[in-house]
Amino acid sequence: MENTKTLSFSLPKLKYEYSALEPYIDARTMEIHYTKHHAAYINNLNAAIEGGTYTEQSIEEILAHISQHIPAVRNNGGGYYNHNLYWEIMAPYSASEPKGKVLDALNAAFGSVSAFKEAFSKAALTRFGSGWAWLVKKGSSLLISSTPNQDNPLMDVAEVQGTPLLGIDVWEHAYYLKYQNRRAEYIEAFWHVINWDEVEKRYLR
Ligand code: MN
Repeated sequence: MENTKTLSFSLPKLKYEYSALEPYIDARTMEIHYTKHHAAYINNLNAAIEGGTYTEQSIEEILAHISQHIPAVRNNGGGYYNHNLYWEIMAPYSASEPKGKVLDALNAAFGSVSAFKEAFSKAALTRFGSGWAWLVKKGSSLLISSTPNQDNPLMDVAEVQGTPLLGIDVWEHAYYLKYQNRRAEYIEAFWHVINWDEVEKRYLR
């Protein structure tokens, strides 16, 4: 035991109440999503790496070499990271429009914020089945991508690789209680609860 430290991950604290994103994202969905789904990804990730030859490393380092890991680490490590990001890039009473450096970058990459929103929404809407849509920083440019399941742009298996700045969960568990099959309405609601300060922080990192 002397020098070995077991690598394990834990559920991050949510910075707002389950009801804080109402009416856009309902409290019941938030509670189940956070306490059941996110918690399960973490438990399953810890189970998958338990007893393995895991040195102390960040989730980002694991994801960067995910092709070398078993599917359980890919699925649950992605689920762990993606939901951490999702909770952080949303906030109650947040400014509903990007500003500062990230606004400049969005205008440069997409022409306008509305053109960006349209392209991002389309990526989220057209992701078949379960997955995510992303705003990705790649070098000095911004791109939009989408991934299946719990994959993300940090993974060496991703079609578009880079740093995720913004991500929307389009698994049905993210919206079905309130929106049922109306994914487009959930995507529209998402724009009202984005924490653009956090997105800009990630852009400047
Ligand atoms: Mn989810």
